Amino acid sequence: MYALRLFAVRHARFFERFYGFFEATYVAAAPLVRRIGANRLERPVAAVERTVKGTLFDCRMCGACILSSTGMSCPMNCPKQMRNGPCGGVRLNGHCEVRPEMKCVWVQAYEGSRRMAGGDAILERQPPVDRSKEGCSSWLGVLRDKGLVHREPAA
Ligand code: SF4
Repeated sequence: MYALRLFAVRHARFFERFYGFFEATYVAAAPLVRRIGANRLERPVAAVERTVKGTLFDCRMCGACILSSTGMSCPMNCPKQMRNGPCGGVRLNGHCEVRPEMKCVWVQAYEGSRRMAGGDAILERQPPVDRSKEGCSSWLGVLRDKGLVHREPAA
């Protein structure tokens, strides 16, 4: 929902803190995730993630969340899906050239990042989107990337 998306950017510091707490919680739950099996949990966890983050951030479930690096503004809402800053078409009023009614997600990202303790992460270069992860839970992806759960073959 667009209004909530803007709200999240305005309160990026709160969401940064909340996510830090949340990530520590699910990292602590990694042994349980291992026992149940990350692949078995993929669908229900992805469904929860889609609902929560879809509501708050208009999340598109790219499977590799970078909200912490983009001021809580999801870059996948950019019509060009730019992952490393805005294109050259930002309007003078800070709106998108493709969807003039929408603020540029990267202008929003910059504003949100200035409110965050770790806001300088916006300067890090992001890799291209791995389309094979589309629809997957990025929360479980974090556990996989940290080596806390095994990369099982797809179920
Ligand atoms: S970066 Fe990806 S996972 Fe994160 S909110 Fe955007 S679409 Fe969802």
